[in-house]
Amino acid sequence: MARQQKFVVVGAGPVGSLAALYAAKRGHDVEIYELRSDLRDPSTIPLNFTKSINLALSERGINAMSNAGSERLLQHVKSATIPMEGRMIHGKKPSGDLYEEAQLYDIHGRTIFAVDRADLNKRLLDILESMPNVKFFFNHKLTGADFKNQKAWFEKRGPKGTLGRGEEIEIDFDFMIGADGAHSAVRYHLMKYVRMDYQQTYIDTNWCEFTIQPNAAAAGDGFKAKFKISPHHLHIWPGKQFMFIAIPSEDGSFTCTLFMPSGNFAELEADSSKIPDFFDHHFPGVTSLIPRDELISSFVTNPHLPLISIKCTPYHFSSSVVVLGDAAHAMVPFYGQGMNAGLEDVYTLFSILDKHSAQESNDPEDRSSTDSNIQRASALAEYSEVRTPDAHAINDLALQNYIEMRASVLSPTYRLRKSLEEL
Ligand code: FAD
Repeated sequence: MARQQKFVVVGAGPVGSLAALYAAKRGHDVEIYELRSDLRDPSTIPLNFTKSINLALSERGINAMSNAGSERLLQHVKSATIPMEGRMIHGKKPSGDLYEEAQLYDIHGRTIFAVDRADLNKRLLDILESMPNVKFFFNHKLTGADFKNQKAWFEKRGPKGTLGRGEEIEIDFDFMIGADGAHSAVRYHLMKYVRMDYQQTYIDTNWCEFTIQPNAAAAGDGFKAKFKISPHHLHIWPGKQFMFIAIPSEDGSFTCTLFMPSGNFAELEADSSKIPDFFDHHFPGVTSLIPRDELISSFVTNPHLPLISIKCTPYHFSSSVVVLGDAAHAMVPFYGQGMNAGLEDVYTLFSILDKHSAQESNDPEDRSSTDSNIQRASALAEYSEVRTPDAHAINDLALQNYIEMRASVLSPTYRLRKSLEEL
């Protein structure tokens, strides 16, 4: 009789956590190794220090979570998300009046959803924690891997809040899932075992987060009244070379992101007092939603982060390892699909693994580890083959959608008016 297979997941972000859930639901022994401490621990550096607070969740991601076999996860997705039926474009007419223009995403009324990334991640960790075949190893950083002999090394990090180097441990595994983000260590080690094509691009745009606070005056007056602008839209202030967006949060606030070339960041970093006027010029109306001093302090305090786009292939080696999510295809955020595509990776991978294991002996007791490894190797080869064109396409679409969001969303009437003005 085959022994239980040991699945090691590296990275407890949304993609690694969902992959661990899929693996645990199939009865594997699952170990999750995560560089940082448990994000449910209040002393953990909040995710939003490096990652956007809330995200747009779409059909891709919802479908992957619906198929995870967890009612608790579905309940969370249903109850803790806000439907966004379209974009709301903000601008200024030649008369100087501000305007808002709603653009529906779907004529049949289908929506995307605003979701709090950390909250979703925490719920996934809660669900995993309740499963007897899942073990967590927080503060463990992958430092090395031997994918021929299925061994890996992790550095145990110092006590909470310190970055001190700790002892190194060695572990064995049957299958490793690398979901350790854009700067993936799993991918780095995988490259030594496969002829991986790899392409990494930084675009000349940085991002910084701001917050529109809830409508304090309307406290207690129902859901919509908590928000200063429509909660059912993804708000965009297109600025041709720049863009400012706002996504609703359940508490009535909006997480906003400024996207702008690094040169413009440098100009405002040199004199932050110019920020409110800059906003008035490029993103009309924002200073009535975010006080001028808050705009300055958020710009000064919050990190100014780069945007990376990564394509690689193949995603696997033999039956030992696969990379998923940002580790396989980090993308610029303009299509709102990075996490969604990563969640879909999990669904696609396990559908293919299930298909191959169904072709194995019908009697699980007849299966040996060797059989499982042979089946998994062919499943992973199929996964890399089918997933590569899709992941590359979504990376390209994400880059193209930046132009769409920051410039082309301006309505035809607006563009016509602008061209007439220019005559
Ligand atoms: P991550 O979230 O990066 O998680 C990787 C985990 O691995 C981390 O917890 C990390 O600590 C851990 N780790 C790293 N190295 C190691 C190591 N050596 N050992 C152990 N653990 C390690 N996507 C959407 O779908 N919709 C959106 O609206 C959206 N908006 C975005 C807005 C912005 C501004 C940005 C920057 C991104 C946005 N994304 C969006 C993309 C989304 O954030 C990512 O695609 C998603 O977080 C990827 O999840 P992941 O689990 O693959 O990686």
